[in-house]
Parts: sequence; structure tokens; C-alpha cells
Amino acid sequence: MKKLKIAIQKSGRLSEKSIALLQECDIKLTQGKRKLISVSDDFPIEILFLRDDDIPQYVADGVADIGIVGENEVLEKDKETEIIKRLGFARCRLSLAIPQSEEYTGISWFKNKKIATSYPHILTKYLNEKNIGSEIEEISGSVEIAPSIGLADSIFDIVSSGSTLVSNALKEVEVICNSEAVIISASSLTDEKKQILDKLIFRIETVERSRGNKYILLNAPNNKIDQIIELLPGMKSPTIMPLYDKGWSSIHSVVNEKDYWNIVDRLKELGAEGILVIPIEKVIF
Ligand code: ATP
Ligand code: MG
Repeated sequence: MKKLKIAIQKSGRLSEKSIALLQECDIKLTQGKRKLISVSDDFPIEILFLRDDDIPQYVADGVADIGIVGENEVLEKDKETEIIKRLGFARCRLSLAIPQSEEYTGISWFKNKKIATSYPHILTKYLNEKNIGSEIEEISGSVEIAPSIGLADSIFDIVSSGSTLVSNALKEVEVICNSEAVIISASSLTDEKKQILDKLIFRIETVERSRGNKYILLNAPNNKIDQIIELLPGMKSPTIMPLYDKGWSSIHSVVNEKDYWNIVDRLKELGAEGILVIPIEKVIF
């Protein structure tokens, strides 16, 4: 059986979470080696560890079938690949920033200015759309220091919290696009590989659904069951079992971490007792 080849970042901001996601899908790292293997024979997968810049090209060329990469790299490299799933981590944005001492007058500020960036393709496209003529200085790293060393007037770079900008006396003036980790795929995969990919996506969606969900069990007076169930709708509908003690029932359901404490407070007010909350490993529909 042919293996589905997945490209992930070798080391950097995406690698840990990419590995963790695959591990949650039961694709494990073999003892300490930077080698991932799938644990089931019917789920043949091979991982390629690459620099993130190279992932779109490798996927477009078919060296890898799919890749986990930042959307910013996908947009910059503009290769023949398709985004098949957004993963919600490594969120950041690509923004224009200028020295704090400058007064920002709108996008026309950038006319005839020099902008340092590692994302010349995205920037050129944006400036053309806005009809602004600027000079682009392409550099591969430490873009944020370009204005202070006199290399450029401004920068176009990745921003997340904005603290790097502040510590370089810069201010963000335009957000051009947002980015998160995504899975990209070559536009044509064989049916065999598509099947493996479908299984992988199913596993990822199962992992996402399970995240933050807890199994909850509690004892409640029978006359409060209706109100309690409104708080705990459960997957389909909660399980209710009578206790030996007449007038009381045991209720089993699922709650999410997000509203967990509010729900527990309400449950106590309604007379619930013996509340147990248990982790859920996988939720499969
Ligand atoms: P490589 O050596 O693989 O080329 P790199 O130095 O280009 O790595 P990283 O800094 O590891 O890249 O960032 C990888 C990706 O993580 C970026 O392309 C972007 O999508 C995302 N990213 C970068 N900086 C941040 C940040 N501060 N917060 C969140 N996500 C970020
Ligand atoms: Mg890179």
C-alpha cells in the first residue's frame, strides 16, 4: 500500500503543535528519533521534516502529498496547492509597521518609501491593488530591525502580540492578512491516497471535537431533572438512571471546559450532589 506523505516543519513555531496533533491521531514518534510512524497498518503514513518555506513547493511538486504550514507561507509561495483544513494554531497576521515617531497618514504614507519584508509576493500584490509605488527590500529574517539600521523606512512582517514591534519602536498601521496553520494538499491525489487522507481528516476532526469536553456524572433530586438537563444537553440526550435511594437519579452527560464552572455552580444551586468530571479521550460520531 502506498503511503500518504505529510510534510511538517522540522523545527520552529509549527513543529511542536504539528507533531502533537499527529500524535493525538495515533501517529507516534518512534523512540526519540525525529521519525513519525502510524500505529495501524491500514493507516500508512510517512512524515517529511522540512523548512516551512519549502513545504508549499514540495506539496505542489508531489514530493509530499499534504503539508502542515502557515497560511502566510501558502499565500507567499502561491503554488498549486489547496487548503483542505484550517487548524487554528500559530495564529498571526501580516502587517505593515512604521517607526513610532512617524505620523501615519493612511496607505499613501508608503508611496516612494522602502519596505523591508520576507513576504515580497503578498506585499507586491497588496501595493498593486492599492496603486501605491513603494520599494521592496527583501530580507530573510530580523525584518523588525531594518528601520533602525537605516535599511528601510518601514516593514511588512508577521505580528502576533505586537511586542516585537514595540521593542523596536515600531507601530502597526495596516493589517493585510491573517494566518493560521493549515493543511495543504496537492490538487490531484490517487484514490488510494485520498482514502488515507479522509481517514486522517476524520481523526483530526475527532481530536478537535474531543478537545475541552469532559464526561460529567452527578446525583440529582428527581424534581430537578428537567432543569438540570437544560444545562447538560449531552451528545444526543443525557443518560438518567434511578438511584437505590428513592427520589434521586444519576445523570451522565458531556460538558465543555469553556462553560464548565458556570454549569457546576448552577448544578449545585439545583441540588446536585456527588458531581464527578472525567476526561474524555475521543468523541466519535
Ligand atoms: P524555518 O526554519 O522552518 O524556515 P521560520 O523561522 O521561517 O522556520 P517560524 O518562526 O518557526 O518560521 O514560524 C513558522 C510559522 O509560524 C510562520 O510562518 C507563521 O505562520 C507562524 N508564526 C510565526 N510567528 C508567529 C507568532 N509570533 N505567533 C504565532 N504564529 C507565528
Ligand atoms: Mg521559514
